[in-house]
Amino acid sequence: MVSSKNITWDWQGRNFYVKVLHSLAGVATQILVRNKDNNRCVLMDVGDGIIRDLLPLQSDLYNNIHTILITHGHFDHMGGLFSLLGFFRMIGRRSKLTIVCPKDVVEIKGIIQLFKKSYRDSILYEIELLEISRELVIEELKIEAFQVQHRGSLVDGSELSSIPAVGFILSAGKDGEKIVYTGDTGYFEKLKDYISNADFALIEGTHKDKTSSYHLSIQEAEKLGKNAKQYLIIHKTPSLER
Ligand SMILES: [Zn+2]
Ligand SMILES: [Zn+2]
Repeated sequence: MVSSKNITWDWQGRNFYVKVLHSLAGVATQILVRNKDNNRCVLMDVGDGIIRDLLPLQSDLYNNIHTILITHGHFDHMGGLFSLLGFFRMIGRRSKLTIVCPKDVVEIKGIIQLFKKSYRDSILYEIELLEISRELVIEELKIEAFQVQHRGSLVDGSELSSIPAVGFILSAGKDGEKIVYTGDTGYFEKLKDYISNADFALIEGTHKDKTSSYHLSIQEAEKLGKNAKQYLIIHKTPSLER
Protein backbone atom coordinates (compact mmCIF):
# COMPACT_ATOMS: atom_id res chain seq x y z
CA MET A 1 0.00 0.00 0.00
CA VAL A 2 1.46 3.36 -1.05
CA SER A 3 -0.21 6.64 -0.14
CA SER A 4 -0.10 9.74 -2.28
CA LYS A 5 -2.06 12.68 -0.86
CA ASN A 6 -5.53 11.38 -0.07
CA ILE A 7 -5.38 8.11 -1.96
CA THR A 8 -3.99 4.80 -0.82
CA TRP A 9 -3.04 2.79 -3.86
CA ASP A 10 -3.62 -0.95 -3.79
CA TRP A 11 -0.59 -1.58 -5.95
CA GLN A 12 2.32 0.45 -7.22
CA GLY A 13 4.56 -0.71 -10.02
CA ARG A 14 7.30 0.98 -12.00
CA ASN A 15 4.83 2.57 -14.40
CA PHE A 16 1.38 2.08 -12.94
CA TYR A 17 -0.52 2.86 -9.75
CA VAL A 18 -3.73 0.85 -9.24
CA LYS A 19 -6.64 1.59 -6.91
CA VAL A 20 -9.71 -0.64 -6.68
CA LEU A 21 -12.27 2.07 -5.94
CA HIS A 22 -14.97 -0.52 -5.33
CA SER A 23 -15.60 -4.13 -6.30
CA LEU A 24 -18.45 -6.39 -5.29
CA ALA A 25 -20.31 -8.84 -7.52
CA GLY A 26 -23.78 -7.61 -8.39
CA VAL A 27 -23.05 -4.19 -6.86
CA ALA A 28 -20.27 -2.32 -8.67
CA THR A 29 -16.70 -2.57 -9.88
CA GLN A 30 -14.45 0.38 -10.72
CA ILE A 31 -10.67 0.38 -10.84
CA LEU A 32 -8.49 3.45 -11.31
CA VAL A 33 -5.13 3.07 -13.03
CA ARG A 34 -2.64 5.91 -13.19
CA ASN A 35 0.32 5.98 -15.54
CA LYS A 36 3.20 7.43 -13.53
CA ASP A 37 5.02 8.76 -16.59
CA ASN A 38 2.35 11.17 -17.75
CA ASN A 39 -0.10 11.16 -14.80
CA ARG A 40 -2.91 10.15 -17.15
CA CYS A 41 -5.57 7.81 -15.80
CA VAL A 42 -7.76 5.02 -17.06
CA LEU A 43 -10.88 3.74 -15.39
CA MET A 44 -11.57 0.02 -15.75
CA ASP A 45 -15.33 -0.55 -15.47
CA VAL A 46 -17.69 2.06 -14.14
CA GLY A 47 -20.28 0.70 -11.75
CA ASP A 48 -22.81 2.52 -9.63
CA GLY A 49 -21.38 4.91 -7.04
CA ILE A 50 -18.51 6.06 -9.23
CA ILE A 51 -18.95 9.74 -8.33
CA ARG A 52 -19.06 8.84 -4.62
CA ASP A 53 -15.77 6.99 -5.10
CA LEU A 54 -14.01 9.65 -7.20
CA LEU A 55 -15.02 12.81 -5.32
CA PRO A 56 -12.92 12.24 -2.20
CA LEU A 57 -9.82 11.94 -4.40
CA GLN A 58 -7.65 14.80 -5.57
CA SER A 59 -9.38 16.32 -8.59
CA ASP A 60 -6.46 15.78 -10.96
CA LEU A 61 -7.08 12.06 -10.70
CA TYR A 62 -10.55 12.21 -12.22
CA ASN A 63 -9.75 15.16 -14.47
CA ASN A 64 -6.98 13.04 -15.97
CA ILE A 65 -9.19 10.08 -16.85
CA HIS A 66 -8.83 9.91 -20.64
CA THR A 67 -10.32 6.46 -21.22
CA ILE A 68 -12.92 4.20 -19.65
CA LEU A 69 -12.47 0.51 -20.40
CA ILE A 70 -15.67 -1.47 -19.96
CA THR A 71 -15.52 -5.27 -19.88
CA HIS A 72 -19.21 -5.97 -20.57
CA GLY A 73 -22.71 -4.57 -20.31
CA HIS A 74 -23.78 -5.92 -16.91
CA PHE A 75 -24.99 -3.17 -14.61
CA ASP A 76 -22.36 -3.79 -11.94
CA HIS A 77 -19.68 -2.89 -14.53
CA MET A 78 -21.26 0.06 -16.33
CA GLY A 79 -24.20 1.27 -14.21
CA GLY A 80 -22.32 4.46 -13.33
CA LEU A 81 -21.54 5.50 -16.91
CA PHE A 82 -24.44 7.92 -17.27
CA SER A 83 -23.55 9.51 -13.91
CA LEU A 84 -19.91 9.95 -14.83
CA LEU A 85 -20.75 11.47 -18.22
CA GLY A 86 -23.11 13.87 -16.40
CA PHE A 87 -20.51 14.68 -13.77
CA PHE A 88 -17.90 15.52 -16.42
CA ARG A 89 -20.47 17.76 -18.14
CA MET A 90 -21.26 19.48 -14.84
CA ILE A 91 -17.63 20.29 -14.07
CA GLY A 92 -17.11 21.64 -17.59
CA ARG A 93 -14.83 18.96 -18.98
CA ARG A 94 -13.45 19.86 -22.41
CA SER A 95 -10.99 17.09 -23.17
CA LYS A 96 -11.99 14.09 -25.20
CA LEU A 97 -13.20 10.99 -23.35
CA THR A 98 -12.71 7.61 -24.99
CA ILE A 99 -14.88 4.68 -24.03
CA VAL A 100 -13.59 1.24 -24.99
CA CYS A 101 -15.76 -1.85 -24.87
CA PRO A 102 -16.31 -5.08 -26.80
CA LYS A 103 -18.33 -5.05 -30.00
CA ASP A 104 -22.10 -4.77 -29.81
CA VAL A 105 -22.66 -3.96 -26.16
CA VAL A 106 -26.17 -2.54 -26.54
CA GLU A 107 -26.30 -1.13 -23.01
CA ILE A 108 -23.22 1.07 -23.48
CA LYS A 109 -24.19 2.27 -26.95
CA GLY A 110 -27.67 3.12 -25.63
CA ILE A 111 -26.41 5.12 -22.66
CA ILE A 112 -24.01 7.18 -24.76
CA GLN A 113 -26.73 7.87 -27.33
CA LEU A 114 -29.20 8.89 -24.65
CA PHE A 115 -26.67 11.18 -22.98
CA LYS A 116 -25.77 12.89 -26.25
CA LYS A 117 -29.42 13.24 -27.25
CA SER A 118 -30.40 14.64 -23.86
CA TYR A 119 -27.67 17.27 -23.50
CA ARG A 120 -26.54 17.92 -27.08
CA ASP A 121 -24.54 21.15 -27.46
CA SER A 122 -24.15 21.65 -23.74
CA ILE A 123 -21.67 18.75 -23.68
CA LEU A 124 -18.32 20.48 -24.14
CA TYR A 125 -16.24 17.35 -24.51
CA GLU A 126 -16.07 14.77 -27.25
CA ILE A 127 -17.19 11.24 -26.39
CA GLU A 128 -15.59 8.61 -28.57
CA LEU A 129 -16.75 4.99 -28.46
CA LEU A 130 -14.23 2.42 -29.63
CA GLU A 131 -15.27 -1.19 -29.98
CA ILE A 132 -12.10 -3.13 -29.36
CA SER A 133 -11.42 -6.40 -31.08
CA ARG A 134 -7.79 -6.96 -30.17
CA GLU A 135 -5.49 -4.06 -29.50
CA LEU A 136 -5.37 -0.28 -29.20
CA VAL A 137 -2.78 2.29 -28.16
CA ILE A 138 -4.07 5.38 -26.39
CA GLU A 139 -1.82 7.97 -24.72
CA GLU A 140 1.23 5.69 -24.74
CA LEU A 141 -0.82 2.93 -23.17
CA LYS A 142 -1.16 -0.39 -24.93
CA ILE A 143 -4.59 -1.90 -24.39
CA GLU A 144 -5.30 -5.48 -25.37
CA ALA A 145 -8.67 -7.18 -25.02
CA PHE A 146 -9.21 -10.92 -24.74
CA GLN A 147 -12.47 -12.81 -24.98
CA VAL A 148 -13.69 -14.25 -21.70
CA GLN A 149 -16.33 -16.81 -20.82
CA HIS A 150 -19.36 -15.01 -19.48
CA ARG A 151 -23.08 -15.00 -20.03
CA GLY A 152 -26.14 -12.92 -19.43
CA SER A 153 -29.86 -13.20 -19.24
CA LEU A 154 -32.48 -12.15 -21.74
CA VAL A 155 -30.07 -11.57 -24.61
CA ASP A 156 -31.97 -12.79 -27.66
CA GLY A 157 -34.62 -14.07 -25.28
CA SER A 158 -32.41 -16.82 -23.92
CA GLU A 159 -31.35 -16.98 -20.31
CA LEU A 160 -28.08 -18.69 -21.13
CA SER A 161 -26.69 -16.66 -23.98
CA SER A 162 -23.10 -15.63 -23.89
CA ILE A 163 -22.65 -11.88 -24.14
CA PRO A 164 -19.87 -9.69 -25.52
CA ALA A 165 -17.37 -9.72 -22.66
CA VAL A 166 -13.62 -9.21 -22.46
CA GLY A 167 -10.74 -8.89 -20.07
CA PHE A 168 -8.01 -6.28 -20.52
CA ILE A 169 -4.22 -6.30 -20.54
CA LEU A 170 -2.57 -2.90 -20.09
CA SER A 171 1.10 -2.33 -20.70
CA ALA A 172 3.29 0.74 -20.58
CA GLY A 173 6.84 1.86 -20.08
CA LYS A 174 10.10 0.76 -21.66
CA ASP A 175 9.99 -2.59 -19.95
CA GLY A 176 6.34 -3.19 -20.83
CA GLU A 177 5.02 -3.46 -17.30
CA LYS A 178 1.77 -5.40 -17.51
CA ILE A 179 -1.53 -5.31 -15.64
CA VAL A 180 -4.26 -7.85 -16.34
CA TYR A 181 -7.93 -7.50 -15.41
CA THR A 182 -10.09 -10.56 -16.04
CA GLY A 183 -13.49 -8.84 -15.93
CA ASP A 184 -16.22 -11.42 -15.26
CA THR A 185 -15.35 -14.88 -16.48
CA GLY A 186 -15.52 -18.57 -15.86
CA TYR A 187 -12.38 -20.68 -16.01
CA PHE A 188 -10.89 -21.49 -19.39
CA GLU A 189 -7.40 -22.79 -20.17
CA LYS A 190 -6.11 -19.74 -21.98
CA LEU A 191 -6.91 -17.46 -19.05
CA LYS A 192 -3.77 -18.76 -17.37
CA ASP A 193 -1.68 -17.65 -20.36
CA TYR A 194 -3.09 -14.13 -20.20
CA ILE A 195 -2.28 -13.85 -16.51
CA SER A 196 1.16 -15.46 -16.75
CA ASN A 197 3.99 -13.06 -16.01
CA ALA A 198 1.68 -10.13 -15.41
CA ASP A 199 3.19 -7.71 -12.95
CA PHE A 200 -0.22 -7.35 -11.35
CA ALA A 201 -3.43 -9.28 -11.99
CA LEU A 202 -6.92 -8.29 -10.88
CA ILE A 203 -8.90 -11.51 -10.87
CA GLU A 204 -12.57 -12.00 -10.27
CA GLY A 205 -13.43 -14.46 -7.50
CA THR A 206 -17.20 -14.36 -7.29
CA HIS A 207 -18.00 -17.61 -5.56
CA LYS A 208 -16.73 -18.98 -2.30
CA ASP A 209 -17.19 -22.67 -3.07
CA LYS A 210 -19.59 -23.04 -5.97
CA THR A 211 -18.12 -23.71 -9.39
CA SER A 212 -19.75 -22.13 -12.38
CA SER A 213 -18.91 -21.85 -16.04
CA TYR A 214 -19.22 -18.06 -16.12
CA HIS A 215 -17.64 -16.91 -12.84
CA LEU A 216 -14.52 -18.01 -10.97
CA SER A 217 -14.43 -19.34 -7.45
CA ILE A 218 -11.97 -17.81 -5.01
CA GLN A 219 -9.97 -21.03 -5.15
CA GLU A 220 -9.73 -20.88 -8.95
CA ALA A 221 -8.80 -17.19 -8.75
CA GLU A 222 -6.01 -17.88 -6.25
CA LYS A 223 -4.62 -20.66 -8.40
CA LEU A 224 -4.61 -18.39 -11.45
CA GLY A 225 -3.14 -15.51 -9.44
CA LYS A 226 -0.04 -17.53 -8.63
CA ASN A 227 0.93 -17.20 -12.31
CA ALA A 228 1.24 -13.43 -11.92
CA LYS A 229 3.96 -11.64 -9.96
CA GLN A 230 1.29 -10.16 -7.71
CA TYR A 231 -2.48 -10.40 -7.71
CA LEU A 232 -5.65 -9.26 -6.03
CA ILE A 233 -8.98 -11.05 -5.98
CA ILE A 234 -11.92 -8.75 -6.60
CA HIS A 235 -15.63 -9.03 -7.45
CA LYS A 236 -16.48 -11.18 -4.45
CA THR A 237 -20.08 -11.86 -3.55
CA PRO A 238 -21.20 -9.26 -0.96
CA SER A 239 -22.12 -11.86 1.67
CA LEU A 240 -18.48 -13.07 1.69
CA GLU A 241 -17.31 -9.65 2.79
CA ARG A 242 -19.29 -9.68 6.01
ZN1 LIG B 1 -20.00 -8.55 -12.36
ZN1 LIG C 1 -21.15 -9.90 -15.47
